[in-house]
Amino acid sequence: MRGLVPHPRYGAGVRDAGDVEGAKLAQQYYAGWARSGEAMFWESAIRADLGKQKYFVMPSLWYVDTLKRCRDCGRGFLFFAEEQRYWYEELGFNVNADCVRCPECRKTERTLRRRFDRYSRLVGKKELPDAELGELVADACFLWEEGILQDAGKLRRLKNLARRRLAGEKVTAKIVRICEGLDVGKNERSGDLSG
Ligand SMILES: [Zn+2]
Repeated sequence: MRGLVPHPRYGAGVRDAGDVEGAKLAQQYYAGWARSGEAMFWESAIRADLGKQKYFVMPSLWYVDTLKRCRDCGRGFLFFAEEQRYWYEELGFNVNADCVRCPECRKTERTLRRRFDRYSRLVGKKELPDAELGELVADACFLWEEGILQDAGKLRRLKNLARRRLAGEKVTAKIVRICEGLDVGKNERSGDLSG
């Protein structure tokens, strides 16, 4: 395929996993489930290790190279089966976390991983000094924008905490802005005076 944004590790072409039976099974498994506007390339199917996955409702039994369109730049790119396995089995992302940006628009996976690890560590702590709370809020904003963090309730609770303890800080302004974006459509915008 032409014109796809290449991935530094996986390239820009569909990979053939060489598993003909697996390709058939994956196609049956996802029949009717593919997101609209996305193409899945069955020959790339690799079986997931469900013991390593985190999911809310449904696991992903197969990873399949999937053609997507970048939310930021609008170019096409592949979200590779191997990459999905890395996200959902090694990094520990929930399988509901979707890849919405091309490799160029995305931060590097190392950044993603570092911030996800720090977020996971900090969010589990009972007592956080202000400096660490600031890091947690910054990571939450980053992971939200990357589509990794998807719990709006959690984001709002962090926003309230930031407003109480980190008033006037940059990171507080940022999480407030993101949360206001979530509320648009639900409430009328009350303008900047409410903040
Ligand atoms: Zn892009």
